[in-house]
Amino acid sequence: MINTSSTMFHWRMLSREPEYPLTVVDTDIETDVAVIGAGLTGLAAALRFARAGARVLLLDAGRIGQAASGRNNGQVIPHYGSHTPQDIEAQFGPHRGAIFNRMVGGAADGVARLVRDHDLACDFVQKGWIQACHATSSVARVRAVYDGWKERGYQAEWLDRGAMTDHIGSSVFYGGWKAGSGGYLNPYAFCQGMARAAGAAGVDIRQNSAVLDMERVDRRWLLTCPGGKVFAREVMVAANLPQSAFWPGIDKVSVPVRVYQVSTGRLEPDWQARILPGREGVSDTSRVICAFRYDSDGGLAMVGQHTLWHDAANRGRRAVAARLRRVFPGLPLQMADRYWEGTIAAVVDRLPRLMALAPGLNFAGIYSGRGVALSVAWGDMAAGLALGDVAERDAPVPVTRLRTVPFHAFGVQYARYMHPRLRAQDRREVAQSENRG
Ligand SMILES: Cc1cc2nc3c(=O)[nH]c(=O)nc-3n(C[C@H](O)[C@H](O)[C@H](O)COP(=O)(O)OP(=O)(O)OC[C@H]3O[C@@H](n4cnc5c(N)ncnc54)[C@H](O)[C@@H]3O)c2cc1C
Repeated sequence: MINTSSTMFHWRMLSREPEYPLTVVDTDIETDVAVIGAGLTGLAAALRFARAGARVLLLDAGRIGQAASGRNNGQVIPHYGSHTPQDIEAQFGPHRGAIFNRMVGGAADGVARLVRDHDLACDFVQKGWIQACHATSSVARVRAVYDGWKERGYQAEWLDRGAMTDHIGSSVFYGGWKAGSGGYLNPYAFCQGMARAAGAAGVDIRQNSAVLDMERVDRRWLLTCPGGKVFAREVMVAANLPQSAFWPGIDKVSVPVRVYQVSTGRLEPDWQARILPGREGVSDTSRVICAFRYDSDGGLAMVGQHTLWHDAANRGRRAVAARLRRVFPGLPLQMADRYWEGTIAAVVDRLPRLMALAPGLNFAGIYSGRGVALSVAWGDMAAGLALGDVAERDAPVPVTRLRTVPFHAFGVQYARYMHPRLRAQDRREVAQSENRG
């Protein structure tokens, strides 16, 4: 029987970073800044606050790397989830749009800097990220994405169908583009390394310390954790999918999308030479998430989704093997190897949030599945805003009040059961493309 909620999952097994020591809130604590959530957003925010000289307490309900930031596919992507850079400038205007585009377009290089500056042992491979068209119907849109980044001076290469076949080692894709600064890393190791860097900068990290409640008392925030109270002048919420309603509506800012991943185990050397010889990471344009990359073992790690989660691990391992055999005919996989799950925090417009909830209480995050590179830039920028180093007019998106997902309960159900409809759309488009030859 496979334990699907296992805390000992693939990236943790491969990680070379030491695990950050466990300390919990077990007494009352006074601090300048409390950051809620020690994923990548919270770690980056905490690091910036500490560098500005503040006493910083970073609180997490669980352990470092056990939420989305440590369980993801590790693809470091300098691109939006669904927007083109042109869309962003049209929506937010030339000033904010250019700032947002610079942030997203430069996010992978930002990760590279962090890896270098803090000597993070997270197996970062920066050889590019490929967005591959699963069907002919997505080519025009992807071409617009490529044009947008190219015109703005980013390393972007258009790959026609033949070039894509050479890059991926598969002829099932209809072209696409490559972002030269993209790549992939071990996300669990990246989190542990970021925790090490934050700790070295003076951040006090407390794990297994969920914030259950929060109130304003004498111009300070009073946070209640199971083991004690925290008094802070400033609070940054970086909780992505907040696990408790510690502030009215905070548990409704995003909806969860449950996904799984499977790693294949080491591929034979001849297959490693044929599949992704340039070692880029890949996401395709299908509606059901499809992304894969090598791990440090020489296996492929691939994302998948179920509608029903019975016997999820075995079904996931079979489904990923079948999918990989379709992309790489002849690949000798009957059933892939390790299985683990994670939960994406999503919003309908797929744009990250900056929210001012009350004086000295801000929220940052929600990347709808594209947060590995952006979260560290976003957390840093959000802390800069709170410190007054970044002016509000220079924020990449407008700072809003609390924004909950409209009809949240419905959204949660929709996210849970949308998979068959999306899969049917993908299949129809693939069939149409194949019929056209
Ligand atoms: C399976 C999967 C694959 C993905 N693949 C990719 C990818 O390849 N590339 C990419 O760019 N993005 C990917 N993503 C998205 C990316 O992982 C996230 O966008 C990013 O990690 C979000 O970081 P975060 O710090 O905002 O949130 P999280 O990592 O979710 O951290 C939030 C933290 O807040 C804590 N918390 C919640 N409530 C409380 C509370 N009440 N008190 C204290 N702490 C609390 C949680 O315990 C958690 O540790 C993927 C996500 C998943 C799940």
